[in-house]
Amino acid sequence: MKKLFLIISIITLTLNSCETPSSNQDIPKKPKNIVLMIGDGMGVTQISAGMYSQEAPLNLEQFPIVGLHKSYAYNDLVTDSAAGATAFACGVKTYNGAVGVDKDTMPVSSILEIADKRGIATGMVSTSSITHATPASFICHQKKRKQHQANALEFLNTDIDLFVGGGKAHFENRDDGINISDKLVEKGYHVSSYFKEDILKITMNPEKPYAFYTDSEEPVAVSGGRNYLPSVSAKSVDFLDKRGENGFFLMIEGSQIDWGGHANQSDYIITEMHDFDKAIGNVLEFAKKDGETLVIVTADHETGGYAINKGSTRDSLVTAFTTDYHTADLIPVFAYGPGSEAFSGIYENTAIFDKMMNALGLKRN
Ligand code: MG
Ligand code: ZN
Repeated sequence: MKKLFLIISIITLTLNSCETPSSNQDIPKKPKNIVLMIGDGMGVTQISAGMYSQEAPLNLEQFPIVGLHKSYAYNDLVTDSAAGATAFACGVKTYNGAVGVDKDTMPVSSILEIADKRGIATGMVSTSSITHATPASFICHQKKRKQHQANALEFLNTDIDLFVGGGKAHFENRDDGINISDKLVEKGYHVSSYFKEDILKITMNPEKPYAFYTDSEEPVAVSGGRNYLPSVSAKSVDFLDKRGENGFFLMIEGSQIDWGGHANQSDYIITEMHDFDKAIGNVLEFAKKDGETLVIVTADHETGGYAINKGSTRDSLVTAFTTDYHTADLIPVFAYGPGSEAFSGIYENTAIFDKMMNALGLKRN
């Protein structure tokens, strides 16, 4: 027994002595920043349709690491966006409709909130209301989704450094009479309706947090009323890079790929897919220059049971849908940058939270 202990001690000593600085080259580099990009409802067919219907390759094709996640919810093989986003944000499988709470309706801290407490800069950009299920799951804790006014109130509980999306009415035109925009201004925020004061025109001061929102939900990309996702994504990474001395966590959502799926409209899916992919390109461009940013692109679920059928050409896809709701498909995950290796393989949607936490060296408590 003593002999065995001695042998183990020697092995341990030998192993420890190997940990010289020179072996650090073998340890994968950790990222300083994470950009998580969620294409709501973006399954493999949505990506395929976006790819076939333009001549240039998608920016998504540049990602060296690809994995698949299991999108199912705690109580249903087919997830909704609330349970799907809560899995990424909080690392728990929960029931459909749950926003930032677990299967027992208990609030769970999100990676954005944990990062915020550790002095990491945080931000969210969405093409739906910022109080909608996907972004809300990173800040809010509600037993039921669509509590837009309650969700808006929870934005006062964090020090998120930047948020951009729709939903101004939920902040300013409320049943309880509270004007949350005024409260955000009191907290030091620059608050603005970005169609009045275009976010792209102003010079952002890294000493200040910013909130930009328009009245209700966003228009579709194709209408010309919305063209900000790619450019605002680029501006957001630059701003957070300047503001976040200890790094940043940014969630960017292409919300309406999902809405095209619900509407069973292939053209709607494709234009939203291209808009989201341009945003991906701009974030990748930043990450390549920066060298310390991990970029992850995925979806919460597929929407529409979308298929590309026989008779399709690049100019004219023959498409079909099996549902006007979500499906239980495996969902691709694309990763670029330091820490990206962890994202290959097949894993639970909640593992994306674990992998991101690990990459940033964050713990729950
Ligand atoms: Mg969404
Ligand atoms: Zn949906």
